[in-house]
Amino acid sequence: MTLPDILERYWGYSSFRPLQQEAMDAVLAGRDSLLVLPTGGGKSLCFQAPAIARDGLAIVVSPLISLMKDQVDTLVGNGVAAACYNSSMPSERKSEVSRGVRDGKYRLLYVAPERLVGDGGDGFLSMLESKPVSFVAIDEAHCISQWGHDFRPEYRQLARLRERWPSVSLHAYTATATARVRKDIIAQLGLRDAAEMVGSFDRPNLVYRVLARSTLKAQILEVLERHRGQAGIIYCTSRKEVDNLSQWLNDTGWRARPYHAGLPDEQRHRNQDAFLNEEVDLVVATVAFGMGIDRSDVRFVVHAGAPQSLEHYQQESGRAGRDGLEAECVLIASGADFLKWRVMLEKNGEMSDARRGLLRDMERYAASVGCRHKRLVGYFGEAFSKDDCGACDYCLGELETVADAVTVARKILSCVARVGQRFGAAHVANVLRGSDSEQVRSRGHHELSVFGLMKDATIDEMRGYIDQLLAHGLLQQGGDEYPILQLTAEGLALLKDAAAEPSLSLARQKRPDKNRLPKRARVETESWEGVDRDLFERLRAMRLQVARKRGVPPYVIFHDTTLREIARLKPTTMDALRHVYGVGARKADDLGERVLQEVQGQT
Ligand code: ADP
Ligand code: ZN
Repeated sequence: MTLPDILERYWGYSSFRPLQQEAMDAVLAGRDSLLVLPTGGGKSLCFQAPAIARDGLAIVVSPLISLMKDQVDTLVGNGVAAACYNSSMPSERKSEVSRGVRDGKYRLLYVAPERLVGDGGDGFLSMLESKPVSFVAIDEAHCISQWGHDFRPEYRQLARLRERWPSVSLHAYTATATARVRKDIIAQLGLRDAAEMVGSFDRPNLVYRVLARSTLKAQILEVLERHRGQAGIIYCTSRKEVDNLSQWLNDTGWRARPYHAGLPDEQRHRNQDAFLNEEVDLVVATVAFGMGIDRSDVRFVVHAGAPQSLEHYQQESGRAGRDGLEAECVLIASGADFLKWRVMLEKNGEMSDARRGLLRDMERYAASVGCRHKRLVGYFGEAFSKDDCGACDYCLGELETVADAVTVARKILSCVARVGQRFGAAHVANVLRGSDSEQVRSRGHHELSVFGLMKDATIDEMRGYIDQLLAHGLLQQGGDEYPILQLTAEGLALLKDAAAEPSLSLARQKRPDKNRLPKRARVETESWEGVDRDLFERLRAMRLQVARKRGVPPYVIFHDTTLREIARLKPTTMDALRHVYGVGARKADDLGERVLQEVQGQT
């Protein structure tokens, strides 16, 4: 069978995604390769389809048992003979898989890295020697590099693969884009004359927004309201924040589960499984919630605080919309986040120029005024050709620049000076807005000339301006107990020299206008075009039911993309159903009747 036939028959896909064909050709030709595509770019297919096309057994190295299990379940559901072999399996199952390997029953075998280099004492390796291995695919290959964000020592042992199978080609796959990690992967694995393929890192289906943190809970609720009944992740920067926020959400009537490394293993797993199996749609988590989150219908990712680098941000926000459908990524950041990171890194002795630089880039992103997509891909060294991405707060016209930025800056700097450089952003904002509060009065700050100087600004706007002045280096934060605002030399100069007219721009969220509907991102309207939403929901319910019965996560049965396509085209015959995107031959045989019944409304 040719590759296009394989795609059509087993997955119901009619075309390749960018770089898939090249990547699959490298595997077919037995040439070592490294493929870098963002999460959701379709890397798995690049070794799965060639494994079907080639003779022999393909070995897939994967870091997590849960990842392996999902991929194998999905493959089997599509009619591909695949299995995994790992230490958590009961010994009968192990023998069964071993027998299957000896009988040449499988096209793909998933294993943990350590299985391939040391014999676990169960004859696993010698069993493999007896069979021709067609190629080895190394998934999440960045785990081999200390420069990556998820180094795993066990991956280091893969350096010995080459000695063990000198003539078998090695193929590495990752979503980590930095050149340093790429070089490291090639060196560590000893790839020879590798075909290196690096895809675009833009994720056009993700709508990016940045908010200056003011009333965090209200800001989060606004996002949640937009996504009722949909799956989402809220990232916090500490375990305590995770616990508090998830408790508060549950008290407020939102079902959410916490996830962080401080929870007992058993509870952590339970919470993760509840999310993957669609028992709950919301997880509040630290960065510990990451790889292995294969739920593809995550429709939003909120960051309640800024992560410590744009790499982290890209990874974490990238868990949204893996199915290619629209999803929203909201960063709710404040200058205090960056101070917190600096203090923490210093305290742990982990601060370095590199770390400082990464933090600075993150801070600039949060305070920048411009297209977010352009900024993000630019950071990863990629040019962005579109003028209007149609999928970020800036391009959707949700931000506006302040008419007289320098005057606004001077008012704020002057207030910081007048309160003696001894107060934080909240207090400075209160004084400028003329807030008649106890904190302001008790210090006599209601008598300052700057009191009420910006009474038309909202609290969100004030916080946003202050963050931007921090990012522009006009203000800095000091203090041990809690962050206080201070002037930098540049800030002082701007304040002193009334004649200076530096180029400075400040932005704020446009205020809601009752007469104007908010502009929707193109991806948001397009992906729902012509979809019968009721039918879509019925199909999702049917999918959940089947998944429960079979004990697999729902996305293993069908992706949302496929369900939406069915709810758009409403096929009434088996033949028409087989032509729907994402419906392979096996799926049509297996679930076709049920789907057609749903479409005809006969259940
Ligand atoms: P990655 O491993 O790069 O994160 P996946 O392999 O999980 O991405 O693919 C993401 C989604 O895209 C999956 O639902 C997959 O089935 C789908 N996909 C992959 N290749 C294609 C294709 N050529 N056409 C349509 N959908 C595809
Ligand atoms: Zn944009």
